[in-house]
Amino acid sequence: MSETSIRPAVITRVLPHSIAAEVGFEPGDAIVAINGMHPRDLIDYQFLCADEVLELKVLDARGKTHVVEIEKDYDDDLGLEFETALFDGLIQCNNRCPFCFIDQQPPGKRQSLYLKDDDYRLSFLYGSYLTLTNLTPKEWNRIEQMRLSPLYVSVHSTEPDVRRQLLKNQRAGQILEQLQWFEERRLQIHAQVVVCPGINDGVHLERTLLDLAKFHKGEVPTVASVAVVPVGLTRFRPTEDELVPASREKAEEVIDQVQVLQEKFRQQLQSTFAWLADEWFLIARQELPPESHYEDYPQIGNGVGSIRQFLKQFQDFAAQKLPSRLETPRTFTWVVGNAVEKAFEPLVQQLNRVKGLVVRLAALRSDYWGQEITVTGLLTGQDLLAGLQEQELGDAILLPSVMLKHGDTRFLDDKTVEELSRQLKVPILPVNGIEELIEACIKQS
Ligand code: SF4
Repeated sequence: MSETSIRPAVITRVLPHSIAAEVGFEPGDAIVAINGMHPRDLIDYQFLCADEVLELKVLDARGKTHVVEIEKDYDDDLGLEFETALFDGLIQCNNRCPFCFIDQQPPGKRQSLYLKDDDYRLSFLYGSYLTLTNLTPKEWNRIEQMRLSPLYVSVHSTEPDVRRQLLKNQRAGQILEQLQWFEERRLQIHAQVVVCPGINDGVHLERTLLDLAKFHKGEVPTVASVAVVPVGLTRFRPTEDELVPASREKAEEVIDQVQVLQEKFRQQLQSTFAWLADEWFLIARQELPPESHYEDYPQIGNGVGSIRQFLKQFQDFAAQKLPSRLETPRTFTWVVGNAVEKAFEPLVQQLNRVKGLVVRLAALRSDYWGQEITVTGLLTGQDLLAGLQEQELGDAILLPSVMLKHGDTRFLDDKTVEELSRQLKVPILPVNGIEELIEACIKQS
């Protein structure tokens, strides 16, 4: 990547009381260089800012260049947030997986919704999954030099032919050699296997998990964990593709198969190692494993154990925070995906034991995506409008912010919270996590 393709890093937020606030940085300013180096991304920025003496070349919102000198302790953060983590642009995907969620969206939306990222920087910074099929020797070298570990790798299958078939990419067959590369450098990955019935399930799944388990050894296991996830299909996928959704029978089969392997891994590796996403149990209509099953939740970002963790955190927080009564009675509608309806019933009962508080759970499915069982994060504005209109919604809707794009008020279908609130004629309170949910319920105006 040449320096000319690196854009100045535009600042969107200056944290109060931070070094940057003291120096006088403002949103709209942009960092061009740090000690003469042009940061490519947030990783470079963090690395370069670890110096005690910084000379920053800054472009202000009016286009004027300034040089700012800062002395600080090496681990002091400047307190800046940027509009993007990638100042030189996104590394895009070169695969054509038939199950790609990006291709399963409706046509005619904003261009940015169709960008397929497969960028190791986002994997390192935010835990998004990548395939390793598009890395140049220079990028491999950077992973090694900067020790960008752990990365999150979509393995899907360790068999070269099966992986090539799934990713529709001739370069996809080298996964075992790539894992070897990580092992030799003592770098770690977390893996995921998206199970596509009829393609990488059955004996292929077993082979993949056993292959990956061979890389789980020593103090720094190369493959730290594996998530086994059912393929997610929407009504917008091409009808002629080779995919079939995971049925209840398939989910039961995968649960049985992986649980046998988990037992073996616990004995040999002292870890369950390969984890089943919550969705398998929801599809199979089986109880979720107990909280003690999940060790330190290594695959929580992939929906493994997230329901159990939510229930546990709710109990802890409710015990501390829930009052016995509210001074002013309040009524809320808490919107969730129908996948968690049963699991969340006890939480709603507990909230409703507070005198004066009434919480109604609205567990919706997504007609937008055409999914029978819908996880909360996939509900769209249109789904909410269809599921909630003409209903008594109380004083406000409690809206889990996982339905919204990060840092935005838009749903996946681009409808905004404000628009929906106007249409439903009720205030909408986005809540991020349990703490905010409970606080919204008990806050007295
Ligand atoms: S690697 Fe990811 S982004 Fe690329 S086609 Fe496959 S699923 Fe889509």
